[in-house]
Amino acid sequence: MKSPASADRAALHEFVAKHQRFLLTTHVNPDGDAIGSEVAFAAWLLGKGKSVRILNDSPTPPAFRYLTDGYPAEVYDEALCDQRFSEADALIVLDTSNKQRIGRLAKHLDQHVIAVAIVDHHATHEGFGRINVIESEMAATASLVYEIMRESEHKIDARTAEAIYVGLSTDTGNFRYSNTDAKAHLLAAELVALGVQPQVTYERVHATAPPGRLRFFGEALAGLTMLEDGRVAVLDVSPEQFARHGLIGADTEGLVDMPRVIRGVEVVALFSEVDPGKVKVSLRSTGRVSIDQVCVRLGGGGHEHAAGVQLRGSREDAKTRILPEIAKLLAALNAAPAGGGKA
Ligand code: 5GP
Ligand code: MN
Repeated sequence: MKSPASADRAALHEFVAKHQRFLLTTHVNPDGDAIGSEVAFAAWLLGKGKSVRILNDSPTPPAFRYLTDGYPAEVYDEALCDQRFSEADALIVLDTSNKQRIGRLAKHLDQHVIAVAIVDHHATHEGFGRINVIESEMAATASLVYEIMRESEHKIDARTAEAIYVGLSTDTGNFRYSNTDAKAHLLAAELVALGVQPQVTYERVHATAPPGRLRFFGEALAGLTMLEDGRVAVLDVSPEQFARHGLIGADTEGLVDMPRVIRGVEVVALFSEVDPGKVKVSLRSTGRVSIDQVCVRLGGGGHEHAAGVQLRGSREDAKTRILPEIAKLLAALNAAPAGGGKA
């Protein structure tokens, strides 16, 4: 019997066969999985002789720019977006199934007749496409893109393998998070066999920080606060700190992971304010509590153990809204019978 997932994938293959001019996009503030998935999907479509454009609401973070070299990747501009929507006959949205998350492209969707397909691994939304391939058991959207490419017997070159590897390795926190399963490692092995050099890729993506980024991390870590008997680690970064070190929002990448090494920590919360009055909250669970609903209830989303939301107001306001919710989750954990938690 065909599983619903494979029915959706079959529909996606038909969708790709039927259309010719594709526009690809992803979520605001794209990460390695977003960019890696777009590049791999673009390579697949180009290999099929389709015309392809990538247009994102936000610029590609410097660490991932090398992946888009040679690809038609552009950043949102109102007139450009109108033009790209008029030229395309299909839009593929990668790594999000939430319309608001594609940022300013969302309003153009309402103004243009264009067929939409979603390829994603977030369980928090239904998907707004005609076709929705949403598989939350996939460690990364890039893993899903790989399987889709394989199903159509596309030959994957080393560069495309690297784009997929970047998606997989960044979304699994370099094979550390709870989404790291046998499948993730098997895929990594296949990608290495296709020519990916893990050490080289790691350096390209992670060894690109300016010194100010470490000083900024140092300051943030020096301000680390522990709550709930050492089970919650809270980090906080201010607009002044971003400005003084000449950094942007994407420079917090990796910061929220650091307190995970503290013994007994269950949840890490990072409150990051780049522009005054706009707070980006990043939550991580070390595996026993599900934190996605905390973000979903406030308009954000993500995964069971890694989620986020943007809130208006001060960092203190954001903490007042988020931290009691985390305390409640921990209280429920205490009340649960021993052995009930997920590893
Ligand atoms: P991060 O904390 O690294 O930005 O994001 C962790 C996870 O939560 C990612 O899967 C990301 O897509 C999701 N996420 C982060 N911020 C938001 C948000 O504002 N809205 C939604 N829907 N998801 C978010
Ligand atoms: Mn992802």
